[in-house]
Amino acid sequence: MAYQALYRKYRPQLFADVLGQEHITTTLKNQVESGRVSHAYVFSGSRGTGKTTTAKILARAVNCVHPVNGEPCGECEYCLAAADSADIIELDAASNNGVDDVRAIIDKARFTPLKLKKKVYIIDEAHMLSRPAFNALLKTLEEPPEHVLFILATTEPQSIPATILSRCQRFDFHRIGVEDIISCVRSAVTKAGAEIDDEGLLVIARAAEGGMRDALSIADQCIAFCGNKVSARDIYGVLGGMDSSFLFTTADALINGDAALAVRSLDSVIEQGRDMGVFAADMAKHFRALLIAKLCGRSEDILSCTPDTMARYIEQASRCGETRLRSAVDALMDAVSGMRYLSLPRVRLESAFIRIASPDKAAEADANGLMERLEAMETKLAAIEKGGFTIAQPAAQVSAPAAEQTQTAEPRQTIAPQQAETARAKPQPEAKLQQSNAKALWETVRRAIQIKNPTLAVLGMKCECQIEGDALFVRFPKRTIADAFLKPEMLKVAQDALSAASNGMSIRFGAAEMKNESVAEKAKKAFGSMIEIVE
Ligand SMILES: [Zn+2]
Repeated sequence: MAYQALYRKYRPQLFADVLGQEHITTTLKNQVESGRVSHAYVFSGSRGTGKTTTAKILARAVNCVHPVNGEPCGECEYCLAAADSADIIELDAASNNGVDDVRAIIDKARFTPLKLKKKVYIIDEAHMLSRPAFNALLKTLEEPPEHVLFILATTEPQSIPATILSRCQRFDFHRIGVEDIISCVRSAVTKAGAEIDDEGLLVIARAAEGGMRDALSIADQCIAFCGNKVSARDIYGVLGGMDSSFLFTTADALINGDAALAVRSLDSVIEQGRDMGVFAADMAKHFRALLIAKLCGRSEDILSCTPDTMARYIEQASRCGETRLRSAVDALMDAVSGMRYLSLPRVRLESAFIRIASPDKAAEADANGLMERLEAMETKLAAIEKGGFTIAQPAAQVSAPAAEQTQTAEPRQTIAPQQAETARAKPQPEAKLQQSNAKALWETVRRAIQIKNPTLAVLGMKCECQIEGDALFVRFPKRTIADAFLKPEMLKVAQDALSAASNGMSIRFGAAEMKNESVAEKAKKAFGSMIEIVE
């Protein structure tokens, strides 16, 4: 006997066998039983949730001579004829290229059925119908013949014209729960004489994301590849993913700050010919699970995992802060979406790994980000200038000696508010966070200094702070203040306070005129006196 796909084998023949959609099947059974079936339905929901299957059962139920509790009896002449009757018309709007043929078919709805009681149109991916086809459908729905039933199945109900929707009864199919999928796949596989272990079934159910057809076709592929005894490891192989212990090991490396080990594990993924995108998505899901474990504790229901895996998530999450987990999820999600569009997806993922493994380096990355924004700003401003905007520059200000300008720290040439807005780089949330971190660290240091020298601490209130690499830069408007902080005993107090507060960062003091190539300096160079540096 030829091998029959599990999905075909499984296809339910009764409403009662449709999994996870009781809210729909119960209503339909009642309608059939009471003879109040509508003439048009929209079945919406993601793929593989049972829309077409339910439509086919309904097509038989409305034709059945003596339905049992709203279910087709499966024995009467109509039930038997329904299997290949010309009166049950299935259209796939997605693959049907001759869209006007679809229209012609719909136009024929007014003719009475050949054999059955009702002519049933099941239109798959109905949102793909052409405009003429929708118009033909609308005409029929406005004055529906007694003998016609339309069932529009769609994954995108929002793309169906409102005029059509308002004439249909709409049912939303839910994604099928992991438990339901597992039990269904298990029974289908057993009937096929094969065996998949429990972890394997869970992996399949999670990968299918609520779609029964996907779950069964994954199981099919696994049996085709691995024979009648399939383990979780085989399934990871078929799906192109890595087994969970590998994900735990890689996450361990990232959490422990071992970027080298994490990058090496990526290398082994590639060596095994696995899909990097799948691996990146798996890592993102893994860190999401850690974050949820951190926030909610035991949550097998949310994560659909075994109690054993849950315990491992909780343990791993306990070694990592919430913020770090959150930024790891962000970094990995960025990588997943970025990898699709880049010619070097591997580099994208490696850089995400390095960012997660060394959170301290994030400060540097931010400085880079600031530089990038500054460059974008220069380009923008150049374009504005080209476009004929002129910005007045008082000659006296331009010729003033540079040293004096910075020392007096007087407000210089200001530009019109609108232009100022264009010119000033808007700090992004990360940069803002870095800035507030820098301020907070400096406040801690300043309080330590206050004990030794209150006056100096007050002078230290007016400054710019910035994290650069693993150093905190504090810059004062005047050199004299900076010099006071640079005295050895003050420097030591400041350094000790910062080390204690920041996990070993070093402190640097400077005055506005002592800055080495800072962002502000670059901006001044680029714009001359057109720009005012605001603290
Ligand atoms: Zn029947």
